[in-house]
Amino acid sequence: MPFITWNQQVVKKNNKLLVLQMIIDKEPISRADIAQVTGLNKATVSSLVNELLEEELIFESGPGESSGGRRPVLLHFNKVAGFAIGIDIGVNYILGILTDLKGEILFEQNQFIQDTSYPTVMELVQKMINSLIDGMPECRYGAVGIGIGVPGIVDKEGITLLAPNLGWKNINFKSELENEFQLPVIIENEANAGAYGEKRFGAGQSVQNIVYVSAGIGIGVGIILNGELYQGKNGFSGEMGHMIIKVDGKQCSCGSRGCWEAYASEHALLKMADKDETLESLIDLAEEHDQNVLSLIEEIGSYLGYGISNIINTFNPDQVIIGNRLAKAKNWLEQPIRKTIEAHTLPFHQKETELHFSKLTKYPTALGVSAFVVENFINGEVRQEIVL
Ligand SMILES: [Zn+2]
Repeated sequence: MPFITWNQQVVKKNNKLLVLQMIIDKEPISRADIAQVTGLNKATVSSLVNELLEEELIFESGPGESSGGRRPVLLHFNKVAGFAIGIDIGVNYILGILTDLKGEILFEQNQFIQDTSYPTVMELVQKMINSLIDGMPECRYGAVGIGIGVPGIVDKEGITLLAPNLGWKNINFKSELENEFQLPVIIENEANAGAYGEKRFGAGQSVQNIVYVSAGIGIGVGIILNGELYQGKNGFSGEMGHMIIKVDGKQCSCGSRGCWEAYASEHALLKMADKDETLESLIDLAEEHDQNVLSLIEEIGSYLGYGISNIINTFNPDQVIIGNRLAKAKNWLEQPIRKTIEAHTLPFHQKETELHFSKLTKYPTALGVSAFVVENFINGEVRQEIVL
């Protein structure tokens, strides 16, 4: 084998990723088109494509359309070369999905939870992962990793420093799960993951600046700036559920007072409603035009609008997307939110900022973490090949 310098290795790795990414984004595509778009020479493209074929990350299909001459063979991404597991730990639910490498959901598992203690949740999560793996089709790489969204502050090592609504502090289940399943595990804040899910698969695909408001039992905010997830210095950005909207206001689970999520979350709604009600039962009552419930939801909507107005005035985003459990109440929340935004954002912002409810319904976080897993796998596979 000829001597390859480190620099050449890096160039080759980058070129291979470039070719693979081109196939993922533009499939079906010919070798000639890849060469033309990337500027790599045809021999380089050909040799990289051969490696990717051998690794079963791509496959060839019969001749495509051509206006003359020999018809080219087209290349496709082999999206079923492996599968990713995405888990969204809500405060009152756990959602698990198995996706292919393009983020298509093969199947899902849902579990409502009441006991959020760490051992209970971890046992349910492990059960869910096992059953998702059991249902996975045969393929070259098997499960390529596990992604988990958590409603709390996650540092860059994947440690959950604080999840006030779960009652968790300094919990490192990344290494526990890595040992248990012998797979890479990625832990991310659920709103950050949700924002990324929306950018990749949802309403935000065509824009660069997105604020994703994850409104569940608590409120988290994921921020995409210039097309990339903004994480802050330590990955702690987006804790806007705890921005103060009322001085000396209601007590919040974080220990402070007057936080946004104490007024505008599912928890706030349930606290105002009769006990024993759930979001689902309140939505049923709203559908029956129960005036009391309608006015409660309207109040939540107005408070969501106050926080969103602050966000719009701060970031001037292309889009604000509202997701997580409260998005189910869109029919009654949308109008009070819009009314509040119109009254409280600067007029310049109003013309251009779009307000959406998540089209991915309950999936943005699970899809976001599974997309992180897939990217990690693809980068890792290509890197490993070069090192060997
Ligand atoms: Zn708070």
